[in-house]
Amino acid sequence: MKTEFKKYNLDTQLLQAIEDCGYFTCTPIQEKTLPILLEGNDTLIQSKTGSGKTAAFCIPLIEAINFDDNTKALILVPTRELAHQIEHEFNRLALYKKLHCVCLVGREDFNKQALQLKQKAHVIVGTPGRIFDHMESNNIKLDDIQTLILDEASEMSTLGLIDQVKEIVRQIPRHKTWLFSATLGELAQYKFLRLNNPTQIEFDSSNEISSQIETYHIDTNQKFETVISLLNSIEIDSCCIFINTREDTENVARQLKDMNYLVTMLHGGLEQKQRNRAIESFKQGKSRILVCTDIAARGIDVDKISLVIHYDCPLTLDSYIHRSGRTGRKEEIGLSITLLSDNDTSSLFETIESETESYKIKKIRVDNQFNRPRMKSDKDEKFKEKNYTLFIRAGKKDKIRNLDIVGSLCSQPNLSGDNIGIIDVQENYTTVTLLNIDPTILKDLTSVKIKGKTRKVELKSK
Ligand code: ADP
Ligand code: MG
Repeated sequence: MKTEFKKYNLDTQLLQAIEDCGYFTCTPIQEKTLPILLEGNDTLIQSKTGSGKTAAFCIPLIEAINFDDNTKALILVPTRELAHQIEHEFNRLALYKKLHCVCLVGREDFNKQALQLKQKAHVIVGTPGRIFDHMESNNIKLDDIQTLILDEASEMSTLGLIDQVKEIVRQIPRHKTWLFSATLGELAQYKFLRLNNPTQIEFDSSNEISSQIETYHIDTNQKFETVISLLNSIEIDSCCIFINTREDTENVARQLKDMNYLVTMLHGGLEQKQRNRAIESFKQGKSRILVCTDIAARGIDVDKISLVIHYDCPLTLDSYIHRSGRTGRKEEIGLSITLLSDNDTSSLFETIESETESYKIKKIRVDNQFNRPRMKSDKDEKFKEKNYTLFIRAGKKDKIRNLDIVGSLCSQPNLSGDNIGIIDVQENYTTVTLLNIDPTILKDLTSVKIKGKTRKVELKSK
């Protein structure tokens, strides 16, 4: 039996907000940590990606803060996107208690942030650099801070961030520290936090990937073609493609766009506004493919990412685990596929493979079509039979865009966005894969209205 949130003696306004989020029972890690964090000592918590760590620290925080309080907690995270995501989750959960979370990240308006800090800022979340800058400008009231949280803790003690984190820690008078990560790594790296007899909760082996994620690798010297073949043959809701350099990220995104895929690109070289817009558009499902560097590897929570492609072999085991963890979230099923060319350092992948024995990375081949072994989600063979490809006599020359197709198909009875797979708009025609549909509806689907014009629809193939 899963534990209901109601069981804990939580503030009724907080309970209401938790229910509004659709959370009724605790995830296992929340069940384990809530009683401990409500007491609140120094705590290190390791639990796999997608297990609900954000709410695990937001709920006890919100329980302990009242509206009249000054800043009570500081949450440090490695990327700006993750900071915004946590701000969002905190504000949802703190809605009825009217608590405010202020998000401080680089490349956004410093003065605007300073103004927000003058108003209510019960909790601050952000990246260490910008938080430190506000401390230097005396914009943050430090006296009442009780809790310091490091989310993605193993990343926070890496070279680029540690000095600022150290400085921040030094300036906060007395506080308890909570560390969260899917991979905690060597505990020695957190020595600088001077933890006081911390409780340590390791929920699963930190080399483990959630069992809902199936892992594969493919040897290929034509990675782009392999990606296309994967996109064409796997029924994906959405997909993350991880690439090691900004330049290659740009190239792959451009090539996919040229082929009319709805693509979003995210890397550290973009303006912050572009970065925010990119992640927003991907989260809202406006594009199905996110081509990105490792800045999107940690913490980012998007529903229905069914496929992660490591276009380049990740440089560390941690990176492999965190990238892969973008899929298979909550109870969903996910696929994580690594592409390896002759140029990739095979020893790197071998290390990853040997350290991840428990979930053996299976080798597969792609020929023209990627023949994926049956996934756990394929309930039976009929599943496949429910997918069809439509052929529509209108294309680029008619100024048709993917969105027009989505719009007109969604207006059909018995079809929704969930049924629409890959849309391929060619010069004179368009093909659309329909997923998981009842074939009887095809009989009536002989034409659709697109941009005011009726267009003929044919069934291309099964
Ligand atoms: P992690 O930080 O462990 O990777 P997140 O905190 O990002 O995981 O949560 C993953 C997903 O689970 C989010 O979409 C979140 O809304 C959802 N979630 C968290 N707690 C619960 C719960 N108790 N019940 C249902 N869904 C939850
Ligand atoms: Mg997280």
